[in-house]
Amino acid sequence: MGAASSRLEKALGEQFPEGERYFGLENFGNTCYCNSVLQALYFCVPFRDQLLEYYANNKSIGDVEENMLTCLADLFSQISSQKKKTGVIAPKRFIQRLKKQNEIFRSYMHQDAHEFLNFLLNELVDILEKENKSARESLPNHSSQKTSNNPINGQLNGSDKELAATWVHKCFQGILTNETRCLRCETVTDRDETFFDLSLDIEQNSSITSCLKNFSSTETLNAEDKFFCDKCCRYIVPALLIVYVPYKNGSYFSLQEAQKRMKIKKPPNILVIHLKRFKYIEQLQRYKKLSYRVVFPLELKLLNTVDNSDLEYSLFAVVVHVGSGPNHGHYISLVKSHNHWLFFDDENVEMTDESMVQAFFGSAHEFSGNTDNGYILFYESLAEKS
Ligand SMILES: [Zn+2]
Repeated sequence: MGAASSRLEKALGEQFPEGERYFGLENFGNTCYCNSVLQALYFCVPFRDQLLEYYANNKSIGDVEENMLTCLADLFSQISSQKKKTGVIAPKRFIQRLKKQNEIFRSYMHQDAHEFLNFLLNELVDILEKENKSARESLPNHSSQKTSNNPINGQLNGSDKELAATWVHKCFQGILTNETRCLRCETVTDRDETFFDLSLDIEQNSSITSCLKNFSSTETLNAEDKFFCDKCCRYIVPALLIVYVPYKNGSYFSLQEAQKRMKIKKPPNILVIHLKRFKYIEQLQRYKKLSYRVVFPLELKLLNTVDNSDLEYSLFAVVVHVGSGPNHGHYISLVKSHNHWLFFDDENVEMTDESMVQAFFGSAHEFSGNTDNGYILFYESLAEKS
């Protein structure tokens, strides 16, 4: 490990970024799902800065009870305050806490990196919201919240939204809007929902742009999936419902055919894209890994926004799943830091080249043997930077 880290220092030489640390993470038995995501988050600079600031502010308060947030903050601060520029760190306390917190991660089996990321962000949000709430309540004349005690994501009113927006939300949260147009009365119903990442269905020989296009494409709701239209519903007198016979074109009551589409109402600062590479195959009765070739660009234009503004994002981290099946394999990550690309494989950190990113697009032929595929992509908004 000493040799590998000094190799990295040599490779970067004079260009080693001031104050930056490149540390590998020890693997405690199939914990690569965790290590790969932690590296991506560490090099998500707005997130890291906020976490270190949180650490600095809370350190002085004294014995805060250990939780996922304090363990993560502790780990990041350990990395960033190392005297050496490169090396290996054992994220032992973090892993112990994770296993304590969620039994899914307790086994030594292969885990899903996306599931871990999702769990971690939601945990951090829960902890921060609880802290914000108790901080508000401890104020001498706080105006007590008459509203719900536990606002659920996506159903907040304006003022609650403000209060609940933690720095994790500010980094990762976006808002999607689900537009449904009733094909009988043309009424459009909007329903907003928040997200920390977009999970995209993938197709062979495609690109992120086409996957995003499919994600936002218009879908017709008919047959089993008809839509309960509030407006059309009002025309039906309740008494009639009992004797109401199949309505025009076969629909009962006010279930109507409708068109639905999903658009991005508020794009996040950090856009996390999860490619659905693990798909349940009905005939096989099990999950299968799709190694499909899905091109992801270094610079992404997000086109499916509500106001049609095309936003630009830049790729800064990729979590790669290595292996042919969903229940085994390995995770590594590629990370961009100060315009250099680095390759993190548990303890091992190496310099790599931007062109290496292409090696993880996937395979155009099912049995080609290339099973190292981009699985979670991290993009940062360029608008936010300027
Ligand atoms: Zn209608």
